[in-house]
Amino acid sequence: MSKAVVGRITPMFEQYLRIKGENPDSLLFFRMGDFYELFFEDAEIAARELQIALTCRNPNQETPVPMCGVPHHAVENYLGQLLEKGYRVAICDQVEDPRQAKGLVKREVTRVLTPGTLVEDASLSAKTHNYLAALLFDSGKGLGALAWIDVSTGEWSGFEAKSEPALWQWLVKIGAREVLLPGGVKPPHQFADLKGLITPVPELFFDHRAGRDRLLSAQGVAGLDALDLHDKPFLTRACGALLAYLVQTQRQEMRHLGQFRPLNMGRYMILDELTERNLEIFRTLDGRNGRGVLRTVIDRTMTPMGGRYLEHRLRHPWREAVPIERTQAAVAFLVVRHETREALAALLRDVHDLERLSTRISMGRASPRDLAALRQSLAVLPRMAGLLRAAVDETGDAPEAVVKILDGWDDLSDLHAVLTAALVDSPPLAITDGGLFRTGFRPELDELLELAEHGESRMQELLESERRSLNLPRLKLGFNRVFGYYFELSRTAGQESPAHFIRRQTLANAERFVTDALKELEDKILHAAERRRDLEHRLFLELRQEMAQARPRFMDAAARLARLDYWQALAETAVRHEWTRPELHKDLRLRIRAGRHPVVEAVQGQANFIPNDLFMDEGARLLLITGPNMAGKSTVLRQAAIIAILAQIGSYVPAAEAQIGLVDRIFSRVGASDNLALGQSTFMVEMMETARILRQATRKSLVILDEIGRGTGTYDGMALARAVVEELARRAGGGIRTLFATHYHELTSLEGHIEGLRNLNIAVKEYKGDIVFLRRLVPGPSDKSYGIEVAKLAGVPQNVVQRAKELLTDLERCRDGVQRPAHSRQETLPGLVPATDAERAPQIASHPVLAALQALKPDSLTPMQALQRIYEWKDSL
Ligand code: ADP
Repeated sequence: MSKAVVGRITPMFEQYLRIKGENPDSLLFFRMGDFYELFFEDAEIAARELQIALTCRNPNQETPVPMCGVPHHAVENYLGQLLEKGYRVAICDQVEDPRQAKGLVKREVTRVLTPGTLVEDASLSAKTHNYLAALLFDSGKGLGALAWIDVSTGEWSGFEAKSEPALWQWLVKIGAREVLLPGGVKPPHQFADLKGLITPVPELFFDHRAGRDRLLSAQGVAGLDALDLHDKPFLTRACGALLAYLVQTQRQEMRHLGQFRPLNMGRYMILDELTERNLEIFRTLDGRNGRGVLRTVIDRTMTPMGGRYLEHRLRHPWREAVPIERTQAAVAFLVVRHETREALAALLRDVHDLERLSTRISMGRASPRDLAALRQSLAVLPRMAGLLRAAVDETGDAPEAVVKILDGWDDLSDLHAVLTAALVDSPPLAITDGGLFRTGFRPELDELLELAEHGESRMQELLESERRSLNLPRLKLGFNRVFGYYFELSRTAGQESPAHFIRRQTLANAERFVTDALKELEDKILHAAERRRDLEHRLFLELRQEMAQARPRFMDAAARLARLDYWQALAETAVRHEWTRPELHKDLRLRIRAGRHPVVEAVQGQANFIPNDLFMDEGARLLLITGPNMAGKSTVLRQAAIIAILAQIGSYVPAAEAQIGLVDRIFSRVGASDNLALGQSTFMVEMMETARILRQATRKSLVILDEIGRGTGTYDGMALARAVVEELARRAGGGIRTLFATHYHELTSLEGHIEGLRNLNIAVKEYKGDIVFLRRLVPGPSDKSYGIEVAKLAGVPQNVVQRAKELLTDLERCRDGVQRPAHSRQETLPGLVPATDAERAPQIASHPVLAALQALKPDSLTPMQALQRIYEWKDSL
């Protein structure tokens, strides 16, 4: 789009092209009168994406300019759609009054909208944080940082890490909408599909010194130590990039941000992104949200703040008992007080998004409707406090958390009174629509209103009073374009006009006059509408400014309401689904009696779900669960992890009784062929993940492995599965709590050989050649895999099932015939090395290849030599 394309260029297009040139990556919304117009390629894109008509600016010229537009009052909706599709938009406004402009009206970009910097409700999901992130990693130093911010609430955090994938994984976990990277930097290959989120920014954005200065100024502190950033240069740089970008896109300093706090991993149970995904906490494995995910099943919050707090907690459950127990007590308080809980929920229903409202107020983006929503929300505060106080007084020993939330409670009634006195009951959407304020709020405004609406009758009143006082009953009032309002007398009467009449025009049979009073009134009437608009605008800005000052008070109220909403939501869920309060312990126990999987149960109905017991402790810390496909292994596994998570967010849990030894981290991995979301190199990924668990899990962790090793050939897979089990049993100085589901029922032979390992299976019954799933977890190994029966159940044709049965019989006969006694452990696991050295010794001696292998030092071999050796051994067999 060069100047040449436009042909002879008008000053307006010159202005347009200059501004577009400064914002090449954004669709430019160019304000012209009541419309935002787009031109050239921008117009083509917008017309296509928004389904609006594409027209031409100058259809008769040789090179017509494509153009489309949207009315300014409906712009938010269109912006939301474009951002949803990943576009950036620059809003170019008229920054001077077109009536006062000399020549071309001045225009400037007043903000740039990007997916990560939104503050308007129309483009945000109420119960989800909207994060903008900044990431940098220095491979030379082996250190980097990730910082993220929700501009719409002002909440931000971040951390430094030694591993680049860890930063990227966290980025996925928090669901960032946009990530800033120094220009030219690319994500590691396994995160290549995040390309769409990346906004490259100049390297300078990540400069340490500039970042520090920006941080100190935005946070109003003297040194980085106040933010716990003095020893975190990478995190400081990431924060600096966020701030620089915000100033660039929002065209204003960020004054509304909360205090920056580095994420302290030590306080939370760590749920990495894969675990979150496998447990389907926010999304199902195939990427959907809504029905079928944990969050939806338990979310009974009434306010956006409560919903976001629940999201935050589910991403970061607590690790220590103190905050958990405090929350449990508050939830318990509301579980038994049905009336209080219901009244609380009803009040919360009237509360709008205080955090985002307050942000828009602070950024000067709040509409009159926003202030009305604020007023409605504030009205709830005194009633809420009254309700809680009554409940506390009635009990005598109310939980600490509930008492504390009332401590220093601020009803904000002064601000509520200001808003009530000022704004009409239902104000218009835009400031310019007028009619914002109540009568009596400002006498000047009332007068202007009166004039604008009843100007004509005020003129009539003046006429009447002149007629009366001058005794001129035939005095007339008239109006013309040249000199406005006038009084008219007949030529004869006009000869002796009153002294204050100023003659303006003499006609054949009439004289026209004005008076000072008439001119004054006329002036007022003619300008009343305009002055009213200006005054309303000014008053609105003043009111908004007054509310902006109170940001800390709104945020404090929002935090209290979020907490209350969270408690009532958990209490409501507990009551509705008959959950129990879990006991917390410091040891390794995980005792769940009659546990249920909340999501599976919600989907198939409580009556159809069979509860199960699961007991783990020091002596039974590695449970090996076998059973045919579809028996319910994954369900039992995930249910245990979900119960631990729920317990550690302070919730009740779906069980008759639960004792939870606090968990510091949950790793949940699903074997390759179960995980549809991963691509081709699934087995490799699975092994990398397994390796990571083995490195990172501690004694307090909980590991959930579902069909690990399945992505490769049977023997490899089985061998790997067993090696992983052995290692988990040994790690962290006494073994890591592990639930391991497998259909390699050969692995069950490990019980008795590995300390702490117990076999469980999910019972099935054979009935007239079919199998019946009992869904009961019982001690001991499963006796066979029932694959053929499951196939039959799934509707595989009868002849195929029959053929498979014959083949299986052949295979079994062949194995039993060639090999020795059927159920000796070593024979069912050919090629596998037994668990202990004591067991290993005799068998190694018994085979020359094994003996050679034992004598070998792998580190001393080149890959070629190793391969050579393998060929030799194979030949010798
Ligand atoms: P596996 O991991 O053994 O293949 P799943 O755990 O995926 O089996 O369970 C298969 C299906 O069985 C689930 O989708 C669910 O509908 C049902 N199911 C599992 N556990 C139960 C239970 N305890 N009560 C009722 N239905 C269950």
